[in-house]
Amino acid sequence: MNPPSYSFVARGRRVVLPDGERAAAIHIRDGVIAAITGFDEVRPGVDVIEAGDAVVLAGLVDTHVHINEPGRTDWEGFSTATQAAAAGGITTLIEMPLNSIPATTTAAAYRQKTESAEGKLSVDVGFWGGVVPGNVAELAPLWEAGAFGFKCFLVSSGVDEFKSVNETDLRAALPELARLDAPLLVHAELPNPIEAAMQSAKFRQASAGGGAKKYATWLASRPRAAENEAIALLIHLSGEFGAPVHIVHLSSSDSVALIQKAKQRGARVTVETCPHYLTFAAGEISDAATEFKCAPPIRERENREQLWAALGDGTIDLVATDHSPCPPSMKLQHEGDFLRAWGGIASLQLSLPGVWTEARRRGYALSDIARWMCSAPAKLARIEKRKGSIAVGCDADFIFFNPDAQWRVAPERLYHRHKMTPYAGRELTGAIEATFLRGRKIFDHGEFSDAAAGRVLRRGHL
Ligand SMILES: [Zn+2]
Repeated sequence: MNPPSYSFVARGRRVVLPDGERAAAIHIRDGVIAAITGFDEVRPGVDVIEAGDAVVLAGLVDTHVHINEPGRTDWEGFSTATQAAAAGGITTLIEMPLNSIPATTTAAAYRQKTESAEGKLSVDVGFWGGVVPGNVAELAPLWEAGAFGFKCFLVSSGVDEFKSVNETDLRAALPELARLDAPLLVHAELPNPIEAAMQSAKFRQASAGGGAKKYATWLASRPRAAENEAIALLIHLSGEFGAPVHIVHLSSSDSVALIQKAKQRGARVTVETCPHYLTFAAGEISDAATEFKCAPPIRERENREQLWAALGDGTIDLVATDHSPCPPSMKLQHEGDFLRAWGGIASLQLSLPGVWTEARRRGYALSDIARWMCSAPAKLARIEKRKGSIAVGCDADFIFFNPDAQWRVAPERLYHRHKMTPYAGRELTGAIEATFLRGRKIFDHGEFSDAAAGRVLRRGHL
């Protein structure tokens, strides 16, 4: 462990700074970036860590992660998830309020969650609270306790202790969220289009007699209309109440035009998509391959390209993983039943190389990655003064990244509790060589050099 007031320099020929990529020296004092100078402007006698051929990129901020502890630690857990994060170049993550027991919908549950995280964190972790029917009175206490904002579902979440909300519930919660000026993150699918799709004669025919093993059956059960209608409602409500709304895991590209128009009007709406929607295409998913099941679903190839275009022009603000693992048995691999298997994709350790592989192929640069996966998510959680950029005053969270390394995903090299992932066997470009958290090297070429250096982040106490 470094002594207090330790000063050193990390430098590289390619450092991705907020205003572009150049050779630079990052001067670090007490785990914070004190200065950024030219590559050669380093006083004699100062310790220097050289990035060599690697690119220096800000540590990633992932604002959509399910860790499931306490209560469902057999699904994931703070130790395994944050080790996977460190190995994947993520130095800050904000955890979702559901799948743990209790769900983070009361200040008491928030305290239980932070207590259970203590001593287990390899990276910094903050928490979203939850909006569920009837918990409006808990929102201010959660916000005061340190939650960074609130998540809700418009459709069944899959777990009993985190109930979905309808428009009436939203109308009860939004004045309070507007008063607090707290962001509301929404799983934006409405139940009616889903029910209609599943009751159609065409769907019933398709899902009978082994049809549940076909990916197309799952896709047909979650139509784009469910997302499109939810997003239209949310844009309207955000405007009516003056509350900031964030659409999590956008999949339907049909919503892009609507979001673009709302943003042009100045609506307080932000949007994320996930690595899997940017990587996979429905037509390439094999029968019974339930590791690809998530909601909303991975859609057609043409939809994926529209999402890339929306990310490129800024309509989609950021990329977050929605890392949501479960025990492999819940994925029902033997039956291969897409309708009954748990929905959720494990990808925490793979998000940077996964997105970079696809981004580079489409002509994007690492400065785009830094915007989508570092600074924009930090802004969503309003931690951008400390996290998500290589800038003076920010925590010295950064990685050494080899953007040219090619490698194949071997599940046994993943640190998630469960290794099942749709990326297994896939060839990816880009490797995380080392990860630094507040100036400490926490990961170095496959080794964790300083375990449990992470902290619980609380809103207002960074
Ligand atoms: Zn999620």
